[in-house]
This record gives sequence, structure tokens and C-alpha cells, in this order.
Amino acid sequence: MDPDTAHPESLAAQALGWVEPATQAISPPIHASTTFVRDADNQYRSGRVYARADNPAFDQAEQLIARLEGGAQAALFASGMAAATAVFQALAPGDHVLAPQVMYWSLRNWLTGFATRWGLQVELVDMTDPAAVRAALQPGKTKLVWIETPANPLWTITDIAATAALAHAAGARVAVDSTVATPVLTRPLALGADLAMHAATKYLNGHSDLLAGVLVTRADDAFWQRVKAVRAQIGGTLGSFETWLLLRGLRTLYLRVRCASESAQRIAEHFAHHRRVAAVLYPGLRDAPGHAVAARQMQGGFGGMLSIRARGGEAAAIATAANVQLWKRATSLGGTESLVEHRASIEGAGTPAPPDLLRLSVGLEHVDDLIADLEQALARAHGG
Ligand SMILES: *Cc1c(COP(=O)(O)O)cnc(C)c1O
Repeated sequence: MDPDTAHPESLAAQALGWVEPATQAISPPIHASTTFVRDADNQYRSGRVYARADNPAFDQAEQLIARLEGGAQAALFASGMAAATAVFQALAPGDHVLAPQVMYWSLRNWLTGFATRWGLQVELVDMTDPAAVRAALQPGKTKLVWIETPANPLWTITDIAATAALAHAAGARVAVDSTVATPVLTRPLALGADLAMHAATKYLNGHSDLLAGVLVTRADDAFWQRVKAVRAQIGGTLGSFETWLLLRGLRTLYLRVRCASESAQRIAEHFAHHRRVAAVLYPGLRDAPGHAVAARQMQGGFGGMLSIRARGGEAAAIATAANVQLWKRATSLGGTESLVEHRASIEGAGTPAPPDLLRLSVGLEHVDDLIADLEQALARAHGG
């Protein structure tokens, strides 16, 4: 396979087409070694010293993900949170950063808690509104703008290209949590972002059986080296077995994301004007606030995540989740099995999730089964 001309589907299906030279194996060996032999003349010509800093198990997966995102390099982390927080820890205390009001809850809590105590000046803005971003940027002082699109759990859309232009004019870097979009649907670096981040726990692996995170950089610059130093120093490093599993999951990424995305669109349209549903939040719906931007920056679908707001408020939402038989009541997303979650219950006080909201992660089951199960669960929740 010529990696310069092959389509991303081909690169993913064959994990870049690599064959293990010693045995001709198509599936790579699992490199478990934590340490590597030093040359007799006291050099480390292999470039490998100790597995907290780097690991040969990473090479194939990191190069594949970098290629799919169109970046210079990728770095695997022990979780999505380890990847995301490494970006902020590569900044200096006193730096000003902008983050969205609507974003992945655990990262928002870390930013307003730990990162703020550590001295970062974290400002939460309406990232979907370029005028609000422009007003909040402090040229020279703002060092990072963090975007998440589509953003948990309301699936709001941020215009990556427009926001990156504003940030760059003020001298700030742009990082995009692209977990929900995946490289199948959006390529943040091509739209002007400097870094793309994924909770690889979700779609990249896709089987709800490992925690992993990844960052992809547009340029191998000094900031990227600081990010990689954070990984090596604090040990937010992925394990060898998880890396092997992740590479296996990546082979089916394109099939899985397109299937989930098509089903999510069908489910969103089915329930958009349903008598037991107050609202469906999904960027693929024509009247969704971010639809025009999403249609421009997402290719081939709007993702597998949506939320529905139950008519009848919190009690009806929780009763609907209680009555599903095929969907699983669980947090997380991006696996083969469809998940439903009453989001306000897990986020707690201060959540932007309305109390009647159910977050849906659409999996790979037949879409008619998924719709029928939600229909019967909504009916039971309403006593019919
Ligand atoms: C899950 C998730 C994270 C965090 O990833 P972990 O692997 O759970 O640490 C970050 N951002 C988004 C959008 C996520 O869905």
C-alpha cells in the first residue's frame, strides 16, 4: 500500500499496511518491555530507554492516528483526561486560556478546580459565538483556546476555522477535543487547529474495553516537546496491551463511525417531532443551531451522539431510561452497544444539562430495534 495515495479507510483497515519483519505477522507483537539495552559504548542509538517516555508499541498506532488527522506526530496517553490535561500542563502558571461553557464535564471540573489553583487563568466562554471569543481573547496573554465540537452533552457546534483565525490573530494556540467527531467526520488540523485531542476510549477504540487518549500536533515544535515531556514525567503513558487493542479497534473506525452516524441521524429525525419528546439535540437536524457550520466542517455525517429531552421533565426522563431493554443505561460513548444516560445525574450541581435530558450514544445495533426500544420506553414512562 502506498500510504501517500491510499484513502484513510485503507490506511485504517490495514493499520498502515505494516507487516512485522521478523515473522511476517499481520497483527503486530505486543511489546511489553519497560526497558531497553544500552549500547556497549554507553549510547542509546535505538532511541529507546524506558517505557514511561516512549514505547515501540506506540509507533504504529501513533503514526496511523497522525496520518488520519493529517498531523506531524501523535502521542498516546493513558486516558483522554491524561491527554487533555497534558496540553494545559505544558502552559505556564499565569497564562490565560479560553474553554467552552459547554464541554466534557470532568475536564471542565479539572480546569476550574486543579488548573485554576495551579495558576492558570481559565475563562469559560460561549465558544459557539465568535463575537464572545473575540471579546474574551487577551492578545499576548491568552495562550490557548480549547474547543470541543460537537460538545457534550448538548452537541453544540463551534466553527473551528473561524475560531482558530481569531485565536491565532491574538497569538493563542488552538486545541480541539474531537472525540465525538473523530477523523472520519472532521479534521481539525486542516481547519486551522494546532492540536487535535481524542478520548480514544470512545470511537477510536470503539469497544468499551480500554481507556486511552491521544493528541495530534500540526507541527513538531517546542510546545509539542513540552507536551511529550509532561507525558514522560508524570507517566500518563498508555500500556502496551491497551495500545495493541486500540490498533485493532482503529481498523474498523470508518465502518463503525459511519454506521453510528447514519443511525443517529435516523433516530434524531424520528423523535424530532414526537409527542413524548420535548426536543432532540443533534447537529444533523436542519433546524439545529449549529447545523450550517456542522454541515460545512463535518464530512459524511454528524456523529453518533445525540440527546433527547423528555416531555414530562426529569421524572419522565429517568423513567424512560429505566424502561429501556436494548439500550444500556451507562455513561461513556462510542462503543458498539448503544447507551442511554440521564446526564444531569452524573454531572451533578452546576451542570448545563437540563434535568429532562437523556444522552444517547448510538451503537451498531439495527436502527429499527433502537427506535422501537426507545418508543416502548417512552410509552411506559408516560404510563401507556
Ligand atoms: C470521555 C471523554 C473525555 C475523557 O476521556 P477519558 O478516556 O475518559 O479520560 C474527554 N472528552 C470527551 C469529549 C469525552 O467524551
